[in-house]
Amino acid sequence: METIALFNQKGGVGKTTGAVNIAAGLVRQGRRVLLVDLDPQANATVSLGIDSNGSEKTTFELLDGKITPADAIRDRGGLSVIPSGLQLAAAELRFSGVPGREILLRDALEPVGDFDYIFIDCPPSLGLLTLNGLAAATGVYIPIATEYLSLQGINQLMETVELVRRRINKGLTVRGVFGTFYDNRKVLNRDVMDRIRERFGATAFNTAIRNNIALAEAPGRGQHIFEYSPASHGAADFADLCNEIISREGA
Ligand code: ADP
Ligand code: MG
Repeated sequence: METIALFNQKGGVGKTTGAVNIAAGLVRQGRRVLLVDLDPQANATVSLGIDSNGSEKTTFELLDGKITPADAIRDRGGLSVIPSGLQLAAAELRFSGVPGREILLRDALEPVGDFDYIFIDCPPSLGLLTLNGLAAATGVYIPIATEYLSLQGINQLMETVELVRRRINKGLTVRGVFGTFYDNRKVLNRDVMDRIRERFGATAFNTAIRNNIALAEAPGRGQHIFEYSPASHGAADFADLCNEIISREGA
């Protein structure tokens, strides 16, 4: 089992889109996948058409030790999802004085059932929730928007991974990096991809996720890309990315 945190402290780089569609793509390939929504904005939850309003079986209660993963998991067409809700916005405050506050998610996921992959959709910050995501993970996937000079935040991001590795999660490694909002016609986009490959070598995926309107529309329908527009570039790119992930299994 691999537990992968989608991590980049920048917002709008494609973490949630990646988490949802990689998870859905791997389910299509027969993998058992759990998606944990660790963002108080609940974008992944809503993207999949899951209504967690008023629910007391969300990531927050899981972190709080009130429920087990089995209590929280919703089945979304074969994909297991632990939804988030607004109450998670209170997490920093609620848990800041709790001993072991960085490993609440790791502990809570301990009894989780048999999955091939767990994906954790982290919020766009370096706060306590993201730390919990990194502490619970065996690896990190970093989505990087190729449409602007977004490599600036990468040093800080790598320092955070390194700190977490040293202090709370010895095994943590960057397992994948992929470009998003990619447009092959744009020199800047190609340059950013080149720099990603230079910097990350074989850790970088060959597949970049192209800028694709269907990927932006699907969440509004509560559907992942393979449901909303299976013939889109977005679906093709996420299928390719999933094939790369599968080809790395056991490596
Ligand atoms: P993050 O989780 O890092 O904040 P999101 O995955 O929510 O980023 O993406 C930000 C916005 O961009 C969302 O509205 C999403 O639908 C849209 N989006 C993400 N990836 C793409 C893409 N490849 N092409 C077009 N729109 C995208
Ligand atoms: Mg997000």
